[in-house]
Parts: sequence; structure tokens; C-alpha cells
Amino acid sequence: MPRPIQATIHLQGLRHNLARVRRAAPDARVWAVVKANAYGHGIERVFDGLRGADGFALLDLAEAQRVRDLGWRGPVLLLEGAFELRDLELCSRLDLWHTVHCDAQIDMLAAHKTNVPHRVFLKMNSGMNRLGFAPEQYRSAWTRLNALPQVDEISLMTHFSDADGPKGVAEQMAVFAAITRDLPGERTLSNSAATLRHTHGGAHADQPLDPLVTSDWVRPGIAVYGSAPDFPEHSVAHWELQPTMTLAAKIIAVQAISTGATVGYGSNFAAERPMRIGVVACGYADGYPRICPTGTPVLVDGVRTRTVGRVSMDMITVDLGPVPQSGPGSEVTLWGRAASGALLGIDEVARSAGTVGYELMCALAPRVPVEVAD
Ligand SMILES: *Cc1c(COP(=O)(O)O)cnc(C)c1O
Repeated sequence: MPRPIQATIHLQGLRHNLARVRRAAPDARVWAVVKANAYGHGIERVFDGLRGADGFALLDLAEAQRVRDLGWRGPVLLLEGAFELRDLELCSRLDLWHTVHCDAQIDMLAAHKTNVPHRVFLKMNSGMNRLGFAPEQYRSAWTRLNALPQVDEISLMTHFSDADGPKGVAEQMAVFAAITRDLPGERTLSNSAATLRHTHGGAHADQPLDPLVTSDWVRPGIAVYGSAPDFPEHSVAHWELQPTMTLAAKIIAVQAISTGATVGYGSNFAAERPMRIGVVACGYADGYPRICPTGTPVLVDGVRTRTVGRVSMDMITVDLGPVPQSGPGSEVTLWGRAASGALLGIDEVARSAGTVGYELMCALAPRVPVEVAD
């Protein structure tokens, strides 16, 4: 029998979340961001749930090839553009749209031999200070690009550093708007947090509303995968998002321990009363964070309880106190949806680990079997 651990990808959840994002930005087209193998879900696995998107955005050329291999003929955008000249040959061959964020990429385009001009997204560094042209260099980059026979349409792009937090997007919006005001072309600015928090269709009616936020294309990733971009300020329930990944395992052993007995490596948990401890077939080699302390939430048979002691490579240990009827074979939900319908948000587990839902879903280990459910 295979080890009793499994991840499930929920296509209905993906469809629901995509529709939810559309409601927030009803006039924009939607890039479903599927970088990092669809945030750990698997590009091939999510495709059927996300084929209602207007395009797929990612940054690895091999992943772009996989999207084309699935039969997708619509837009595909490379969020970091070409890394070397020959990447542009693949862009020509697969009809990939690509970001241009630096002079070297304009040089590559100028050197690229093609009779199919490329659609490019010129990226401005409006304050994130990661990729993009400085505002004062942006217009000359646009002029240079516009003069190249290799370039077809130029779209305008930036990325927010603080759409999920108190600083918000206003400063970067102002920089972007001032520089691009009279430039033609479609605009794309917003990730999940900006799309949900800073739009007419989002829940923050008190935020300044600027149609530029969702002008032509939005670029949601994490919201599509059912994690709240601004947890714990808001939960997935607040944003009406559904889980798209469940990680579940089973109890493979039970220990009845007495007061003072310890559990696991380092003996860092000691029972304060007699306890039943469930040993679960999931550990850090499956992608469950080793750093999760005693008290991390977990569902056993759909009932909320907690981990106790250290996470080891192949097992974790949980308090069966709240679930007296449980035993070997009982279902354990590490995150996602239990058979009973009970939910444990990936964001809650991520917070216990001092990280974000993104990191947990991306870290699902290759050894975990994955099933796709409708
Ligand atoms: C990853 C990424 C996104 C999606 O961000 P989320 O926070 O997951 O919505 C959007 N735009 C760019 C440029 C990205 O790299």
C-alpha cells in the first residue's frame, strides 16, 4: 500500500476564485499567474480549472512551452522577459509576449532576427526596486523599443510592493500615471492584493479608487490559489476564496502517554496530563514546514486540533484529545478541505510557520501523490 498521504487539487476552487477575481475587476482581462509550476499545484493539473482566463503569465520558458503543449493558443506572458538572445527565438516560435525591464533586453530584441514582430510589456520600476526602468528612463526606453522592427505593440507594466499592506499603491500609481499619461498601449499593474483591495469590485470602498489599477489586464496569482494576499488582516472567507489545494494524510499509530512524557526529537513537548498522540504520515520531506511549533492547527476527522512536538522528516504528532473516536486510519488534514467539508486555511498554517501561503503551496514535495478533483 502506498504511504497514506495525498494532495488534492480542486478545479472547482480554481474556477470559483478566477470568477471572484473577475468580479473585482470586471472590465479587465485576467492573466492567471502560473509561475513556479502554478504555485506548486502543477500547470497541467490546474489548466482545466484556469482555461477561462484570458492569458497565462509565468517566467520560465520551459513552463511556457508546457502551456502551449496543453493546446493553449491564447496569450502567454513572460513576466521577466528573455534571459538570453536565444529565448527570443522561442518567443517567436511559441508566440510568447514578454516583459522588457532593462536595456540589455532591448539590445537582444534589436539583435533578434524575426519576421514576426513581438508584443512586449515595458516594465517600469515605480518603487519596488526589483525589475524595470527607472521612471526617468522609461520614456526613452519606450521610444527605443517603438523604433525596432522586431516590436509590435508595446504595453505598459509595473508591479506594486505594498498592495497587501498599509502603505498601499497610491505612491507607485502616481509615479506610473505621471510618466505614462500620454503613452499609447494597454496597462497592467495589479497582482492579487491590488486587484482585491484597491478596486471598485474589491471590498475596500474606503480606498481611493483609480481605474488605472485594473485598467486592461490584472495579474492575480495567490488569490486564484485560494490564499488571502493580506492574511491575517483578511481571511479567504472575507475575500470569498476557496481552497485549491488540500494536503491530507492518515494517522499511522497512536501513543497513549502519561503526564510528563515527551514527544518526538528534542523532547520539546511534555504532556501536562495523560494524552493520546496521533502519529501522522506527513513530515517536512512532504513539504510540511519543520519550523511549525507545537500548537499549529490541524484537522483530525475534520475536527480542529494541534500538532505537538517537532515535525520530523516523515511524521508529525498531533493531540487527539478533541477527537476521542479517532485512531489509526483517521483522516488528517494539514491544510485545505476535510472529507466532512471542514476547512483549514493554508494561511493559518503558514502563519504558524512564520511565512505565507505562497511558500507552503510552492513547497509541496514531489514525493506526495497528487490527485485532481473536480
Ligand atoms: C507573481 C507575480 C504576480 C502575482 O502575484 P500574487 O501576489 O500571487 O497575486 C503578478 N505580477 C508579477 C510581475 C509577479 O511576478
